Amino acid sequence: MNYIIVGQGLAGTILAHTLLNQNKTITIIDSPDLSKTSKVAAGLYNPVVFKRLVKSWLAEELLGHMNEFYPKAQELLNAKFYFKKNIVKPFSEEHEKVLWLKKTGEDIGKYLSKTIETGFLTDIIHNRIGTGEVVEAGNIDTNVFLDESRNFFKANNILLEEEINYDLLTISENSITYKGITANKLIFCEGHKATSNPYFSWLPFKLTKGETLTVRIPELHLQNVASKVLNKGVFILPLGEGLYKVGATYEWEDLTETPTEKGKLFLIDQLSKLLKVPFEIIDHQAGIRPTVKDRRPLIGLHPDYPSLGIFNGLGTKGVMLAPYFAQQFADYLENSTPMNKEVDIERFK
Ligand SMILES: Cc1cc2nc3c(=O)[nH]c(=O)nc-3n(C[C@H](O)[C@H](O)[C@H](O)COP(=O)(O)OP(=O)(O)OC[C@H]3O[C@@H](n4cnc5c(N)ncnc54)[C@H](O)[C@@H]3O)c2cc1C
Repeated sequence: MNYIIVGQGLAGTILAHTLLNQNKTITIIDSPDLSKTSKVAAGLYNPVVFKRLVKSWLAEELLGHMNEFYPKAQELLNAKFYFKKNIVKPFSEEHEKVLWLKKTGEDIGKYLSKTIETGFLTDIIHNRIGTGEVVEAGNIDTNVFLDESRNFFKANNILLEEEINYDLLTISENSITYKGITANKLIFCEGHKATSNPYFSWLPFKLTKGETLTVRIPELHLQNVASKVLNKGVFILPLGEGLYKVGATYEWEDLTETPTEKGKLFLIDQLSKLLKVPFEIIDHQAGIRPTVKDRRPLIGLHPDYPSLGIFNGLGTKGVMLAPYFAQQFADYLENSTPMNKEVDIERFK
């Protein structure tokens, strides 16, 4: 056996598919109830940082890998979960429009609509001065992707459903054994749960709780916006059948996965500022993002136990980061190809 992977959230699932694509043998160990994060996520990807209208970190490279990885996974799993959706940004101030139009002439312009639309959903949303749209954006339906992947792993007998017991690991330099399964390496993909992992809890996670609402907006449903995401204060992502996901909050003190009244009120307030029409709350969820002090992923092998590795720290952007860095990690593990120094856990040694 080549690898044991612990965790089947976005990180573990994408690393597993990447290694299987390279004909590696793997076993995945996952207890799904330990973290809801990947399933709570809206799964959005966006190459533009709205605040400054600049490209997000490594945008081109990450999008390039997403466009290879997700369509291939859709084919393998015979399911549809990768959606292109323009992100519509209603402007608040005239100077935002001026900056947007200026930026369309720069490198980032390839991700921005070239004109400002003035009549977008003006009966439904507060949109006084017009909207711009980010193209090359969209979302992954993480529930479909993770559930279908789980079915695939189960059908291939490579999934063990349990919480790993760290005391039962037998670690040597070139191999690792867990309950009779021996592999060359074991890679932890435990999301925020890594903070209780005895081998990797020294890494500087700075976890962030996030909450979302699922709402029904009957009048928006009639406007046929299935291929657009709205973003102002909060995002409104169409889920189909008249439902929308709205998010998200950022909270650093309360790190439980329990939805809070405070989070709900914040989202209702933001949504009310954007919508002119009524909405009904259907569901309320919370998860913990595996965010890191320096906002970069945490990838690499343990400094003292090189048969143990970690693929984590995907923070707020698991959907975009994971395909590119899973490939980079696999190349490092198999061919010693150097990894991007900004993600290598060596930086904290
Ligand atoms: C409200 C919210 C909105 C978000 N929106 C977006 C978005 O729009 N776009 C985006 O890209 N990202 C978004 N994110 C971030 C995204 O969810 C994360 O980057 C990503 O899900 C992290 O995935 P992961 O696999 O590292 O961790 P997790 O999702 O936490 O997965 C870890 C898995 O391992 C299992 N596990 C953990 N420890 C053990 C153990 N010891 N033994 C066995 N199993 C174990 C867990 O049960 C789980 O199945 C959002 C997050 C939140 C909370």
